[in-house]
Amino acid sequence: MGASDDLAKVAETGEISPNAMAQRPNEGHLSIRNVGKIYDPHGARVVAVQNASIEIEPGDFVAIVGPSGCGKSSLMNIIAGYENVTEGKILLDGQPLATLETPPKPGSDRVVVFQNGALFPWKTVLENVMYGPMVQNKMTRTRAEERAMDLLAKCGGLDKVAACYPPQLSSGMQRRVEIVRALINEPKILLLDEPFRAMDTVSKTVMHQHLLEMYRVCRKTIVFITHDLEEAIYLADRVVVMTSRPGTIKSIINVKMSRPRTPDMMLTSEYLALKAQAIAGVHEEAKKAFERGEREKA
Ligand code: ADP
Ligand code: MG
Repeated sequence: MGASDDLAKVAETGEISPNAMAQRPNEGHLSIRNVGKIYDPHGARVVAVQNASIEIEPGDFVAIVGPSGCGKSSLMNIIAGYENVTEGKILLDGQPLATLETPPKPGSDRVVVFQNGALFPWKTVLENVMYGPMVQNKMTRTRAEERAMDLLAKCGGLDKVAACYPPQLSSGMQRRVEIVRALINEPKILLLDEPFRAMDTVSKTVMHQHLLEMYRVCRKTIVFITHDLEEAIYLADRVVVMTSRPGTIKSIINVKMSRPRTPDMMLTSEYLALKAQAIAGVHEEAKKAFERGEREKA
């Protein structure tokens, strides 16, 4: 049964069959409009982001790639509400999220997962996942536990490690638990800032399949930052290539490869053509950044 048959079944029965994508949500539309970010505007004036505009539709998986220090995390931190904009604005479902007048404010509608995990080591996996809705009084303990177990199970059988403490798990598994912990808050957008950066190639490949599976099940808008071009093309619907600092949008590549994505797709001519298209631009920018001696800042 092909993906389109699966989707037809979803339309008919409302059920998600094993390969079908969950339906596109009607929330999570992110409009990034002419965004600029200057650190220390009255002193050193570090121009991190300049005139960045991206429209991200609800349920889209967008990857942002660019060399180290080009302003990716700055853009992410503005979306997350940790930093202000110094130019332009960002709207979430038409509502102002970051403007010159709006002070930055994080919210449970946008959850960020970073490279360095932030699970509580003294709480079990289950308690970690239940923590958000419990502390915000959004769910009773029973409901939070039910929901957490359900999500853990749906996200690649993580319910099996519900009673473990994070340090007992591999870093890949910890990262997956973190994503589940983000999802239980029902965010409109999932923000991932180089979550697999420190991993070896094999672990990364495994994580990609898990992330794609989570995306298939939850179908949230995902903004995924990486400096790894292959990862970006493999995962996303669109790859936004940023220039070296100040980060502007150099090009946007539409990835029309079908889903579910499988590792053998990286051998198809379609994938290789996209990679060739992206490589030239990214390498040009990486070279510029390298020549300028841009320091790595994770
Ligand atoms: P990336 O995530 O693409 O590696 P960042 O957004 O972290 O890039 O950084 C972009 C530029 O802004 C870099 O030159 C970095 O040194 C600078 N920068 C980042 N955060 C700050 C800050 N809080 N204050 C001053 N400069 C910063
Ligand atoms: Mg960064």
